[in-house]
Amino acid sequence: MTIRIALVGFGHIARHEHLPAIRANASFRLAAVVTRGADPDVGVDCFENIGELLRQMPGEVDAVAICTPPEVRFAIAREAITAGLGVLLEKPPCTTLGEIAELTRAAQQAGTPLYTAWHSQHAPGVEPAARALAGHEIATLDIEWRENVRKWHAGQQWIWQAGGFGVFDTGINALSILSRIMPCPLLVNSARLLVPADSQSPIAAEIVFAGGNRRARFDWRETGPETWSIKVTTTSGSSVELHRGGASLIVQGVLQDLPEVMEYRSIYSHYELVHRERRIDVDAEPLRITADAYLCGERETVDRVGTGAQ
Ligand code: NAP
Repeated sequence: MTIRIALVGFGHIARHEHLPAIRANASFRLAAVVTRGADPDVGVDCFENIGELLRQMPGEVDAVAICTPPEVRFAIAREAITAGLGVLLEKPPCTTLGEIAELTRAAQQAGTPLYTAWHSQHAPGVEPAARALAGHEIATLDIEWRENVRKWHAGQQWIWQAGGFGVFDTGINALSILSRIMPCPLLVNSARLLVPADSQSPIAAEIVFAGGNRRARFDWRETGPETWSIKVTTTSGSSVELHRGGASLIVQGVLQDLPEVMEYRSIYSHYELVHRERRIDVDAEPLRITADAYLCGERETVDRVGTGAQ
């Protein structure tokens, strides 16, 4: 049976990734859109909030994909779970670890499907990188995640607010890849958060992981080309590098042939299985590392960036 899915929050990612991925997958049918804005005119009914959707389309929707900023996601997801719907959460799945734990508990109790969709985990280099690192001991880890916030997040004020994640909105993509490829858990030793004077969230961050020679640097102040790279070496002398957010993989210095994968098509193929088998597929590890960095990070105030948040 076709999975009737509603999009909740119709911003950049809903319009440019979720909508085409749903339309490209015959197992899904877009059932409705929930938006605070104007009707996006995509051929389905449009509602102001999830409550209205549930009231006006009882029994006509099987699942929701929540594409809002993270801060409002928990309340929407809980309402959907209570109504017996499957839930696909954009990344980061929630603002706090408590929220994702509670959604997991609620979905278990309700017997409803729940999926934390981390799009970078679907990049084609990720699974082969995990295989190349399996069973190895990590010697070094070096993450560089730099991009121009004005290019990638133009006009988005929520990213600067408390709960908006700041540069971790992007850096958490790297952490989501680590969650798949690292053969050992990563503990945060220390962190440095650079927070603009007119923001609640960092524009740049550095994390040092326990174990020596393991670090991550996230920076939104890049004005040149973006860098989304993870380099790992092992104690047996092997090396694995992911570039372009996992779209490119180098093992032992050799560029690997990878299939063309569209991350959001892969997300929906996976969610179909989660939904049909009524599974709970929750990965909170990237959120845990982010929270740990916030908990132990030293905060440094840097120049205002015109966020409009304060
Ligand atoms: P966006 O363009 O700002 O869209 C977010 C949408 O959420 C808004 O357009 C709005 O849609 C809705 N919304 C509901 N409550 C809101 C609130 N309190 N404040 C602001 N918007 C609210 O953001 P986005 O880029 O699509 O990102 C949304 C999520 O997708 C984020 O968690 C982000 O990390 C993730 N993501 C983004 C990208 C990307 O390249 N942009 C890539 C991967 C993942 P309505 O007006 O329809 O209600």
